[in-house]
Amino acid sequence: MPFFDIYKHFIFPSKRTKILLCFLIIFMLFLGYIIVQLTGGTKFAYLHILYIPVILAGLVFSIQGGIGAGVAAGILMSPFMPTQYISEQSQPFLSWAMRMIIFVLVGAISGVGASIFRAYIKELELKQITDPLTGLPNLHGLTKIFSEIVQMTHKTLIVVAVELNQIQKISAALGEEGTDQLTKQVADSLRQCVGKNGFLGRLRAHGFAILIPEEEHVLEILKNFESLSENTYLVNTIPLFVEMRFGISRYPNDDNDLNHLIRKAQLAIKTNQNQTERISHFDKSIGDFSEHNLLILNQFKTAIDNKSLVLEYQPKAYLQTGKVMGFEALVRWSDPVLGLVNPMDFVPLIEETLLITPLTRWVLETALSQMDQWNRKGLLVPISVNFSIRNLQDPSIFETVVHLLKNYKIPPHFLEVEVTETCVASNMSILVATLKNLREIGIRLAIDDFGTGQASQQYLFELPVNAIKIDKLFVQSISYNSTATAIVKNAIALAHDLNLDVIAEGIETQNEYDLLKEWKCDGGQGYLIGRSMKAEDATAWLKERVKPHKPKGKA
Ligand code: C2E
Ligand code: MG
Ligand code: MG
Repeated sequence: MPFFDIYKHFIFPSKRTKILLCFLIIFMLFLGYIIVQLTGGTKFAYLHILYIPVILAGLVFSIQGGIGAGVAAGILMSPFMPTQYISEQSQPFLSWAMRMIIFVLVGAISGVGASIFRAYIKELELKQITDPLTGLPNLHGLTKIFSEIVQMTHKTLIVVAVELNQIQKISAALGEEGTDQLTKQVADSLRQCVGKNGFLGRLRAHGFAILIPEEEHVLEILKNFESLSENTYLVNTIPLFVEMRFGISRYPNDDNDLNHLIRKAQLAIKTNQNQTERISHFDKSIGDFSEHNLLILNQFKTAIDNKSLVLEYQPKAYLQTGKVMGFEALVRWSDPVLGLVNPMDFVPLIEETLLITPLTRWVLETALSQMDQWNRKGLLVPISVNFSIRNLQDPSIFETVVHLLKNYKIPPHFLEVEVTETCVASNMSILVATLKNLREIGIRLAIDDFGTGQASQQYLFELPVNAIKIDKLFVQSISYNSTATAIVKNAIALAHDLNLDVIAEGIETQNEYDLLKEWKCDGGQGYLIGRSMKAEDATAWLKERVKPHKPKGKA
């Protein structure tokens, strides 16, 4: 048993421990009596053994226990105990009365001391489980309540997570003090809604959680929540509406651990963010998905160091001549735990984290070192690299590109940066500056997946691009869908009017190839031309098609 548990058993003994300790104290008192008697009586120092059960009684049973044991010890060492057992000489009254008073005093002091200490520990514990702002239980407090309910009832339990919408914006406007005032008011209204049917607690940041032990009370509480949407909260005389969202998970169906249950209830809110319902229920598909995502992120942290990333190269060709136009660098990840992970399954996740920076740096470094190798063999062709919006928000990526181009002595126009249209659409101003910098040093820019974002054409005027890549969704429909045909034809005409190159992605059939060629599309990429290949295969593919020329760039 760990030390802390032993100490807790002693300071806050259970009923059983109390009974055991009571017997132990009585036993010690009598043992003390016998020892004193056998060693010759109260004249000798063995008498002080009796302080042990007296102090112990005070510690366990507080002041009453200490006094009781003190009196008992005093009586045992009193008229019944002659000074000298052998000579049977009795003790003077004053002597034993005085001793009894000292026993009682020691017992009382030990009892009072233990009570003060116990109260102090209780206060510390209470602080540990209470949120100081609202006075509600915090996560530790809720966990304690949760374990007590689960152990006592063995029944199901409902966990409701509460999140305040737009709270970050409200906090930014109100400042810390204002946000505290608001939180207190929200806590009060939630407390009223929950009443005696559940346990409300405050989580870190601005969230709350509620434990509802009885299923039949859930509906009632949720109904009360509905009325909260009309509430206004007055902070610094400003009336505020606070929209709340509720997520629900269930013990034991969804999890056995309160932390996980709260996280799952919060996940239910997050995955439901775009919908209109204010109350969302956790279901397993949400959990599996997010746990898998978390695993992907965890595994990816070490992917670069573990060398489990590989860069493949998918060829692009000029449609009119069939000649090599270049390659697109596409990342492949083979993880020891997850196996081969599709870029569509991890790139969007990585883009949400800082990990996108080392990924893009690695792609750039690998692609440019490959270009260097091809250049030395007289086989240099352009390579395009996919950039995410986060890369363009990070000014240091520009320096990396400049450094790598210089290091590998690659002419900048051999490097193309692909940016997807959806990411362009959301953050124009930040993007334009970085893209202009890249363009100024001669790097080519292409808009990827053209046609899938909204208001695609607007960006063609605003961004310094060289090419657009029509998304495979449209290309693969041109053989049978007249709308796709119209979109692709229009995109080609528009790009040409703007003096841009057009590359069609995802060409899989000869018919698609022929149609695009007829419509004067400049380039194409797709399984018909070639799938993405490992570096050695791409080199062999190039050798078959490109006549070696003198290395490019400064020697
Ligand atoms: P993307 O940039 O549009 O890349 C083209 C995707 O289409 C590639 O998928 C490619 O393998 C696939 N593809 C090419 N030809 C055909 C075809 O004929 N038929 C079909 N069905 N598909 C074809 P992949 O490699 O799975 O990559 C998917 C996306 O992941 C890429 O789309 C890109 O947005 C992203 N991605 C890949 N590598 C990187 C990278 O290094 N960095 C970043 N930020 N994103 C990357
Ligand atoms: Mg691309
Ligand atoms: Mg694409």
